[in-house]
Amino acid sequence: MIRKIVFYPAPVLRQVGARVETIDDRVRQLAADMIETMYDANGVGLAAPQVGESLQLAVVDVSHDEECVSYLRVNGEEKRLAEICPIVFINPRLELLGPKESENEGCLSFPELRGEILRPSEVKATLGTLDGGSVVIETDGLFARAIQHEVDHLFGRLFIDRMSSARKHAIRGRLKEMQDHYG
Ligand code: ZN
Repeated sequence: MIRKIVFYPAPVLRQVGARVETIDDRVRQLAADMIETMYDANGVGLAAPQVGESLQLAVVDVSHDEECVSYLRVNGEEKRLAEICPIVFINPRLELLGPKESENEGCLSFPELRGEILRPSEVKATLGTLDGGSVVIETDGLFARAIQHEVDHLFGRLFIDRMSSARKHAIRGRLKEMQDHYG
């Protein structure tokens, strides 16, 4: 089922999501719905707070372009994106690695808003899985960026928080419009 995506400034986007302690049918259904919702919206990632659920659960799929990463290791083994996407993860822990790089980002909770965001270029992510285990993903490129963007959502952080002050200044009119329209 496609869920309704909540837009800024919905308060749930600023909450720290609860850890997922019990993986039950409700959580599995939410994850399946989030994948469907992400594809429907042509996104590469979606976090539970973006569908109104304040939980540490997110989905990512960047497999449309195998070249968007230069390496991918899953539990230490080389993999292709198509072998593991879409990924669903809960209760993530991130190690941020590599030099910071700036890339253009968007967010499904901010229609028509984009900006250059500086982030570390590589991650080592320990991600809880829906079978109760966990997986260690080491990668760079768009996959590393998407994981960081979604993990930010799980802790109430939004990409506008990471924009330069000049960019924040430039978009203040659009944010005001969104506050008036969706607030
Ligand atoms: Zn987002």
